[in-house]
Amino acid sequence: MPADCLFCKIVAGEIPSTRVYEDEELVAFEDVQPQAPVHVLIVPRKHVPTLNDVTDDDAPLIGRMMRAAARIAETRGTAAAGYRTLFNVNAGGGQTVFHLHLHVLGGRPLRPGLG
Ligand code: AMP
Ligand code: ZN
Repeated sequence: MPADCLFCKIVAGEIPSTRVYEDEELVAFEDVQPQAPVHVLIVPRKHVPTLNDVTDDDAPLIGRMMRAAARIAETRGTAAAGYRTLFNVNAGGGQTVFHLHLHVLGGRPLRPGLG
């Protein structure tokens, strides 16, 4: 793991986080600056910098991240009303932490579309 990766440190428990889900491959925790009442980040334990670095072999991992998002939305009571899943990719896509993470946003009506 890169020594300076924030989310590797969160996965390792070296930096505190509020975990909401974990399994052999994934950890999910509350975003420290929530943009909605539900704002959870789902990360692989393995260090993958961006979606661009995901290989065909990693495809099942992405599927599990999406399944975890739906389960977390259900647990948090926003599955039926609706929620958003989002990967920001690289600087122009708004990515600031370079360890792959899936945002799960919900708990309030979100604007339609991609804005
Ligand atoms: P992104 O802009 O897609 O790279 O998202 C990074 C997210 O990580 C932002 O929503 C931050 O609020 C969040 N974040 C940064 N530091 C922490 C931390 N220590 N614990 C939890 N979330 C964090
Ligand atoms: Zn990392």
